Amino acid sequence: MLDYDGLGAALADKSNLADGPRGKLLDTFKHEIATLMIGLRRIQVVGRNDRPVDTAKICDLCDCPVEEARVYIDGKVKRAGVWANMCLPCFLERGSGIGWGVGQLYWHDGLGWQCLAGGPPGPAADDEID
Ligand SMILES: [Zn+2]
Repeated sequence: MLDYDGLGAALADKSNLADGPRGKLLDTFKHEIATLMIGLRRIQVVGRNDRPVDTAKICDLCDCPVEEARVYIDGKVKRAGVWANMCLPCFLERGSGIGWGVGQLYWHDGLGWQCLAGGPPGPAADDEID
């Protein structure tokens, strides 16, 4: 079950933004973050990244074709010390989260792949919003 209330509460607690707690937050709420980002793309809250990306064709963990599912995560595999292109089910089971240095969420909109979340943070990433 998705816990958007828990994600919101965790984001409101600034102590979760430091490196250690951030990693735990990204892992704990990876399903919520992935589905939220896809939903935000569908309702056009987040835009596309037009930079070409070298994209995956299959999930490195289960060999399923990621293009059919239109989503994959290029991210750290828990307890393996490696990165992999993962389909959503493999990511939910073995991924470490979505965020810079942890994993990037890619979405195929029918025209091409785009990075929806987890890419390099821009200058606004450190801005405080109160
Ligand atoms: Zn997979």
